[in-house]
Amino acid sequence: MIDSSLQRRLSENWARVQEEIRDAALQAGRTPEDVVTIGVSKYVDAEVTAGLVAAGCEQLAESRPQQLWKKADSLALGDQVRWHLIGHLQRNKIRRLLTHQVVIQSVDSQRLLSAISDEASSAGQTVDVLLEVNISGDEAKTGLDVTEVRELIAEIADCPPEGVRVRGLMAMAGWGTDPAAAREQFAQTRMLRDQLTAQWDLALPELSMGMSGDFPAAIAEGATMVRIGSRLFEGIL
Ligand SMILES: *Cc1c(COP(=O)(O)O)cnc(C)c1O
Repeated sequence: MIDSSLQRRLSENWARVQEEIRDAALQAGRTPEDVVTIGVSKYVDAEVTAGLVAAGCEQLAESRPQQLWKKADSLALGDQVRWHLIGHLQRNKIRRLLTHQVVIQSVDSQRLLSAISDEASSAGQTVDVLLEVNISGDEAKTGLDVTEVRELIAEIADCPPEGVRVRGLMAMAGWGTDPAAAREQFAQTRMLRDQLTAQWDLALPELSMGMSGDFPAAIAEGATMVRIGSRLFEGIL
């Protein structure tokens, strides 16, 4: 257990961020419930993560598969939380990862998607995934470039892989992007999704975009999931 002052701080941070997310949704003329907050717990240990859940967070994300399954095992919160993987996944870690209910947001290659499909279908599971798009074109950023996303969606539309449901796109603004440029990149992500949906008659409802520094812009451009880390741990890290 964490001490009560730490818990209070986590609860205050959570409430404040929730309020800002709500305000951003209302300002964009959207329903606040349509924006899900994913708490990025990669900065903290399992105990503090449990404190975040106690504060009200029901969706958690980790960048590293090993961290995700270690925390998920030690917290043993079952259906109380949904886990999301938001960092690179090596194919040899898929099987172990799939022992937890997990949304894989960081699908960055056709090879990875097929491997997830193989593992999931042999385990009799259906896994929700997002395609990670490198919308900024930043060399240092991970993810598929826009052309690769188009190619991959065309393939999926033609021949849907077993055991996976591609639910949408995940994107990050480029390093050092100012708020206006970040918003432009989020708009491009949404337009890409809209084009793909229209072209292939596919449902791609999820747009995972927006982090501590830029979530209001992402919500204004249609984010359905925001991934918030540092803001939740202010005064703690
Ligand atoms: C770390 C991380 C986040 C959270 O970033 P903050 O700026 O701390 O909110 C979101 N998305 C991804 C992919 C990350 O790696």
